[in-house]
Amino acid sequence: MRIDLAGRVALVTGGTGAIGSRICAELAQAGARVVANCAESDLDAARQQQRRWQAEGLEIALEPFDVAGFEACAAAIGRIGRIDILVNCAGITRDAPLRRMQPQQWQDVLRVNLDSVFNTSRHVVEGMSERGWGRIVNISSVNGQKGQFGQTNYSASKAGVHGFTMALAAETARKGVTVNTVSPGYIDSPMIRAVPEDIRGRILEGIPAGRFGQPQDIATAVTFLCAEQSGFITGANLPVNGGQFISF
Ligand code: NAD
Repeated sequence: MRIDLAGRVALVTGGTGAIGSRICAELAQAGARVVANCAESDLDAARQQQRRWQAEGLEIALEPFDVAGFEACAAAIGRIGRIDILVNCAGITRDAPLRRMQPQQWQDVLRVNLDSVFNTSRHVVEGMSERGWGRIVNISSVNGQKGQFGQTNYSASKAGVHGFTMALAAETARKGVTVNTVSPGYIDSPMIRAVPEDIRGRILEGIPAGRFGQPQDIATAVTFLCAEQSGFITGANLPVNGGQFISF
């Protein structure tokens, strides 16, 4: 299937991270004009990523803003103008067992991982609906589907992302706007490399495919959902986890 996104404008939140940067590259290779968001504190790393994209022949703009802030999202989206494709990929972890979890750890994760999806979607959905075409892809996680020790905050936020997806999909289906979730399993990235080696080994044993995913595996799924040809797929969750958690 040839995916042609020429003439489309895409905003990818967390677009400079391990997974987001491959999503940006893939959308740009499909012809979209891509804007990569990042946290303001990540701007130096984002500029390095921008140079890596340039070395691949890809021109991707940077738009740092805090996805946890409703007004910050409104202002940034106003600066960008028309957005046809929104990929909500910004995410953080603040792990602790519940009995030790502090309110700040709970709030930070819910604000960045879940409030952000409202904050960005709220400002793009009307324009997409008026134009009769839009794609919103929300990045959840296998741990939002099955729960994970030490991640009550993260699992709740990522399960909430899919609830949001299903509800908004129902609201926008008649307008040519699809809303879907991609739920990555464990992806070879700094987030996973930070997990102690013995635990990482045990996680790997639980992945039937026998390997961690690559950011490209997620980028391929996201780009597929953004394609013209995927217009009848909405409200879906696409797990990309090497068989680690199989459900329907
Ligand atoms: P990463 O840490 O490499 O990148 C995170 C990105 O989010 C960066 O661009 C960062 O600047 C941005 N970000 C963080 N806080 C922000 C804020 N307040 N405002 C704007 N941007 C902010 O993470 P990653 O491993 O690429 O993960 C990307 C997404 O995939 C996340 O939502 C994560 O929960 C999800 N995920 C990752 C894995 C994995 O194995 N890495 C597995 C499942 C799900």
